[in-house]
Amino acid sequence: MIPTKLMGALTGLMLSLAVSEPAAARQPVEIALTFDDLPAHAPLPPGETRLGVAQALIAALKAAKTPPVYGFVNAVQLEKEPASAPGLDAWRAAGFPLANHTWSHVNLNQVTLAEFEADLLRNEPVLQAKMKGQDWRWLRFPYLAEGDTPEKRDAIRAFLAERRYRIASVTMSFGDFAWNEPYARCKALGDEAAIRELEDSYLKAATDSFDYYRALSATLYGRDIPYVLLMHEGAFDARMLPRLLDLYRQRGVKFVSLDQAERHPFYRADDKPAAVAAPVTLESAMAARGLPLPPQTWSLSTLAAVCR
Ligand SMILES: [Zn+2]
Repeated sequence: MIPTKLMGALTGLMLSLAVSEPAAARQPVEIALTFDDLPAHAPLPPGETRLGVAQALIAALKAAKTPPVYGFVNAVQLEKEPASAPGLDAWRAAGFPLANHTWSHVNLNQVTLAEFEADLLRNEPVLQAKMKGQDWRWLRFPYLAEGDTPEKRDAIRAFLAERRYRIASVTMSFGDFAWNEPYARCKALGDEAAIRELEDSYLKAATDSFDYYRALSATLYGRDIPYVLLMHEGAFDARMLPRLLDLYRQRGVKFVSLDQAERHPFYRADDKPAAVAAPVTLESAMAARGLPLPPQTWSLSTLAAVCR
């Protein structure tokens, strides 16, 4: 004898499975991988090089047979760390494209529009030189900051549209950047147990965020959008990428190019000359519908204290 309330719940569950399961089985989850802060991100562990990090990332991407993956460049690093330069050439030699992340990683919410535009333009000669004849006109906003006032948001979009840029949105992220600094500290200390814990928490964050953004998309649209995943060119990302790509593969992910992902109507705001009503992230899409965000089950808060 099943109580009526439970029976109702079971029927609802069976209905939802009947509706969503075959679609889920047919449709792989599409993710476009993107890497920020080329050619140098976060401190390096002792004995590692920027080129070595780039080569490890490239090898993992090649082994997983991903489509070409965009790397977003801050060319200021070529002056700060000249030894990082070969990493950009390795990226290109692998057939992977480069695009703009501004010259010095400026936050549009903290500088004037004119300062931001000048910094973005200062980054272009390197991209032009390395991407001859190919499409480098994508911008990934540093800190994902698109402007702190409606006027600024409109103005930067007008500027970008005039220069034929598209905005590389982010619709999946687990805060991968935050593991790179503690990793460098743990490596310097030779603390292998702490590094194993970093590995575990990194993979848990990736798993949880995958479920989290899929749940937002399911709530909003009843299905997956193609996701654009934010990653960084850090030493721990390089160490973990083979396992991370495996994790996604095991969950039925198909890797697609940024261009392919952004063809989906969700990203229609990304090439508009003015700020539009369409949301640019899944979080903002939830807010626009007045829906509360579910709690995140992964956290970066303990990483700052690791290997101090
Ligand atoms: Zn960045």
